Formats: sequence, C-alpha cells, structure tokens
Amino acid sequence: MFQQVVNGALLATGFEDVIDPSTAAAFQRSPVATADELDSAVAAARAAQPGWAALDWNSRAEHLTQLADAIDREIGWIAALQSMEQGMPYSQSLAFTQYMAARVRLLATFRVPDRVLVDDDTRRVVECWHPLGVVAAIAPWNGPLMLGMVKVASALIGGNTIVLKPSELTPLSTLEIARLGIGILPDGVFNAVAGGRLVGAAMVAHSGFDKISFTGSTATGIAIAKQSAAFLRPMTLELGGNDAAILLPDGSIDDLVAAAAQTGFSNCGQFCAAIKRIYAPAALVEEVGAKLAAVADGFVIGSAFEPGVTLGPIQNKAQYDKVRAIVADSLVAGGRVLSGGTPLDRPGYFFPPTVIADLTDGARLVDEEQFGPVIPVVGYDAVQDVVDRVNAGPYGLTASIWTTDLARGEAIAAQLAVGSAAINRHAAFDPQIPFPLIKQSGMGVDYADHGIKGAMRMQAVTTIKPQRA
Ligand code: NAD
Repeated sequence: MFQQVVNGALLATGFEDVIDPSTAAAFQRSPVATADELDSAVAAARAAQPGWAALDWNSRAEHLTQLADAIDREIGWIAALQSMEQGMPYSQSLAFTQYMAARVRLLATFRVPDRVLVDDDTRRVVECWHPLGVVAAIAPWNGPLMLGMVKVASALIGGNTIVLKPSELTPLSTLEIARLGIGILPDGVFNAVAGGRLVGAAMVAHSGFDKISFTGSTATGIAIAKQSAAFLRPMTLELGGNDAAILLPDGSIDDLVAAAAQTGFSNCGQFCAAIKRIYAPAALVEEVGAKLAAVADGFVIGSAFEPGVTLGPIQNKAQYDKVRAIVADSLVAGGRVLSGGTPLDRPGYFFPPTVIADLTDGARLVDEEQFGPVIPVVGYDAVQDVVDRVNAGPYGLTASIWTTDLARGEAIAAQLAVGSAAINRHAAFDPQIPFPLIKQSGMGVDYADHGIKGAMRMQAVTTIKPQRA
C-alpha cells in the first residue's frame, strides 16, 4: 500500500485509482490527503524548519546526498514504478531516475553565501540570505520524479522544509522516494501528500506556506497566481511552452532531427521544453520532413516493460484526446502527414510519432502546446518573420537556432523573447544552467544558484561603526 509521508511517518486514509496508461485500466491505489492530513504536513514542516535551517550547508548537503544514495540503492523499483504510472519505457525511466539522483547530489553542492557589499571605516553592509521557511511544491505527471525532486533539493539545501504533492496521475514513485527519506532526513523536513486539483488548491490556499513552487499547465499556474495574490507570497511557476526550433540554411538538419526526436518524440513529447515546432527554410522543408519521418518510423512503440520498446503511451486520456484533436485539426487546416497520424489499435493511449508538413501559424499544431509526439515542419522565407511570429505567441519557455554561423545564431537568440535559447542544441537542461521563466511560461528562475535563491529571502544588513571623537 502506498502512503503519504508526514512528519517522518506513513499516513493514508482516502484512496483513488492510479491508471496504467498502457492499458487504460487501474493498476494501483493512491492515497488522497484530507484537510487534516495536509494541516499535519504543514505543521510538521513548520516545526522542523528552524532546526533544519540551523544545520550548516554541508550538513544539509550530507542528508541530501544520503537520500540520493538511498534512491540509487532502490533505483530499479523506483524506476519501474515511474514506468508503470507514467508509461515511459523502463530503460528511459531508469536513466531519468539515475539522472534525478545525480541532480539531487549536484544541487546539494550549491551554496548561497552572504556577500559583503561595503566594509569601510564607517559602515559594513552585507547582503544576507535566509531560507523562506516552508515550501509548497506541486508537480506534474510528465516527468514526476525529476520535476518533484529538483524542487525538494533546491528548497532543502537552502534551509527550507517542504510539502510536495505529485500529480494525482503519477503519485506512487514520488511517495516511495519520500518514504526512503524517513530516517535519513529529520522528521518533518520532507513531507509528501497526494491528491489532485482539490489538494493542490488547498495547499495554495494554506496560510502555512512561505512559497509556492509549481510546475504544470499555464491555466493552473494562472489560477495559483490569482489565489496566491492574497498572501503576496513568492512563487516559482514553470508552465507551458511552444518551443520553436529555427533552422537556418546552413544548419545541420541531422542534428536538428536528432534533437527533435529526443525531445519531441521521446516520452511522447511530454517534456516542457520539447521541440514543438520546426521552422525550416521553404526549400528545405521536404528534406527536414523526410528525415524526421524516417526517425519517427524507427521508434518501437509498446508498454514500458516490453523488450526493445523506445516509446510508451501518452500518459493520460485527456492528453491523448487533445493530441488526437490537434492532429484532426491539422488535417482540416491542410496539413500533410509524413509519418504516423493515427492512434494504435490497442488498449491504452498509444499514439505514434507524427510529422506534419504544409501547416503554418494559425493552425492549432503550430500555435498551441501539443504536449504529444507530433511535430509540424513549417516553411519560412525570412528568418526575421519567424522571430516575429515566435515572439507574438503567448509563451516564452525555450527556443533553438540551428546554424554554423554562431554569431548569427546568438544574434537571433538575443531577439527571441524566451527564457532559454540554445544554438545547435535544444533544451540545454543542466542544473548548473539557470532556467528563467517568462511570459505565459511562468515566473521566477529554476536551477543553479538562482533556483536556490528562489526559496530564500535577501536581507540587507547595515552596521554603522562607532566613530572615534
Ligand atoms: P496541471 O496544471 O493539470 O497539474 C499540475 C499539478 O497541479 C498537479 O499536481 C495537479 O494536481 C495540480 N493542480 C491542478 N489544479 C490545481 C489548482 N487549481 N491549484 C493547485 N494545484 C493544482 O498540469 P499537468 O497537466 O500535470 O502538466 C502538464 C503541463 O505542465 C504542460 O503544460 C507542461 O508544459 C507543463 N510543464 C512545464 C514545465 C516547465 O518547466 N515549464 C515542466 C514540466 C511540465
């Protein structure tokens, strides 16, 4: 039985089904936090926070490293659970889980030292950093462990405690990791509750939190921001995106296609910063489309534990229905399917990697975040026009430019209103690289010392030195 972790103890009362996306049938039950259980988690986190903050950075890092070690010891089971609930092939889940544990270790090495700004005969001015207190962390289903545990490590290393809620669609692997933390972290430092929108909304409405860290859809992010206004409380919101890859005439089509497959097809494109649309010079659309279609056709689709599988199902029915509707709209809008295009005839939410040409801005697949394994290849005549079109959209998560003219690539990056731009790579995710969130893709900065400072408050301390007469 899977249980929540509150104050170092296992706790569960209400339960709801967890669906296996490869069969569309329930395979497990997850607890659902009651109001009392949420209150207990917040109270435990508040009680534990001063003691945790009083430890020095190295001691907190040691606890986090021990948690990462415990994850590594149970890695097969944790990765299998993530595969069962999320649908991703086991080999991929294993790699993500190993990478997640490595990120926890790496984030534990960051420090945010106080900074002496002035120290002269008359005064000393110090920029001091203190933990905010208790963080409410709410995670989505597309990369449950990675997205949740980066929040945990970033908050804890700075001296905060946390209550983490995974998505109701993928709660189990996160609850298991929280269980592993019992006895490694002091009680109350890392609490995990489960449940869906109502539990998330109750967290956001709870006065016991000092910060909200949310990853999920833009619609939910806006709802959270509205609700949080009453508290004037710091928030980090990592929301949706419609990430463009812009190929210049001299760019490597092969490298772009590999990145599109890795981010936009793997994990069924359910990756916040996936390549979600490719803009190619009009004369290169056929070549890009053909190469991408060939890679798409090479995926082996199946459930997480079938041998040789490289692509699982879409994670949930709502997302599966959305992808199918967007593909249907693409056909009405004049799109030409180069690969895929129709769901697999088997139970579960299987949809093949799909490449669609002949669309342009205005079609849903180009304008919206599809969050599925479907990529449009859109032709362009003038790159400035593409920059203007990308900037005109609501999102600003990431974009990439593919060119051998690096100076030109950087000049185009500077014009793009996105938090992260990459040249000859897409989604340069790395805990050491800040991940700024702008426009309707969110607010705040994740990763690197910025991510840790996001759960800390700056205090300016001025000391006037006594003057000799
Ligand atoms: P979602 O907004 O439906 O749910 C996310 C989480 O919020 C879940 O835990 C859910 O239970 C909770 N929730 C739902 N309603 C809530 C409310 N009113 N108040 C508080 N919590 C609430 O998002 P999703 O469908 O799980 O995730 C997919 C979205 O996440 C995509 O749009 C994707 O782009 C985005 N995403 C963004 C990033 C990023 O770094 N920018 C990373 C991953 C995913």
